[in-house]
Amino acid sequence: MPHLVLFFSLILCVVAAGCSAGSTDDPPATATPAATTAAATVPPPTTPASVADPPAPVSIATMASSPTPSETPTALPTDTPTPAPTPTATVDPSLLLPDLQTLPPYDMFVQVWPEGNHVIRFSNSILNAGPGVLKVLGESDRSTATTRVTQHVYNVDGTYDEHPAGVFEFHVTHDHWHVENFALYEVWSLTADGELDEVVAVTDKVSYCLMDETRSDRPDAHPEPTYTVCDQIIQGISPGWIDTYEYNTPGQIVDITGLPDGTYALRSTVDPDDQMREMDNGNNAGTTYFDLAGEELLMLDGPPTGVETD
Ligand SMILES: [Zn+2]
Repeated sequence: MPHLVLFFSLILCVVAAGCSAGSTDDPPATATPAATTAAATVPPPTTPASVADPPAPVSIATMASSPTPSETPTALPTDTPTPAPTPTATVDPSLLLPDLQTLPPYDMFVQVWPEGNHVIRFSNSILNAGPGVLKVLGESDRSTATTRVTQHVYNVDGTYDEHPAGVFEFHVTHDHWHVENFALYEVWSLTADGELDEVVAVTDKVSYCLMDETRSDRPDAHPEPTYTVCDQIIQGISPGWIDTYEYNTPGQIVDITGLPDGTYALRSTVDPDDQMREMDNGNNAGTTYFDLAGEELLMLDGPPTGVETD
């Protein structure tokens, strides 16, 4: 659980004072007394069936004595862009491509920040369901002072082609390197028929460390992890492996301050800008429906039918 370790490192980091300054991230998963009460009964036991070894929930109560972060949380964005549907690519049989899929978000609960913001914290898992590895390498570009990311797209004969795939950035709060713009988190309102209606809250441009964290039960999953370090040299997700950011990881939030009670959907989309070459761009989103009542959040098994929405 690298991010669990990371999390506690972060607490130490905050205790040591000042090392998270300059970050635009949310405070660590420190709960207010009210949120502690709510969080003690969550996260719900529901976890995706395809996660072979779901992370054990960490009691928020044990974190209540953590220092209050001094930084101001990111304000709820007012602009809520909706990505255009990406056409499904035709699969070239000469290529061994990855296929990125987001599992339905889980471990969801409402956290109230000292500043008054209400955020949904949740765990996010990304599966490589394709036959090919997602492998990216960084290269420093002095002219632009960035670290460009190149994806190695493998052919069945073992050779590979290079595909530009965005930028690595050093994430101060996580203290390691991320691929920029790798995930998009949205809360949607629903129509009376339970269809996704409008984006009502969003966390855009989430950066991510790509690594083999949990082996799925897919028969073609690699037996051992290959990518285990979040550096700027090489990152990846092996076939059949899952990369998870747990709910207590800084940034694992959508700010829902002011959102009325009702039934909504949290939709998480991997590679929303289509930076990575993969088999199918039509299956990148995972969706979890939930009821919101004040600080209580109830995850639902599926889209509701005939609900009244605000
Ligand atoms: Zn990270």
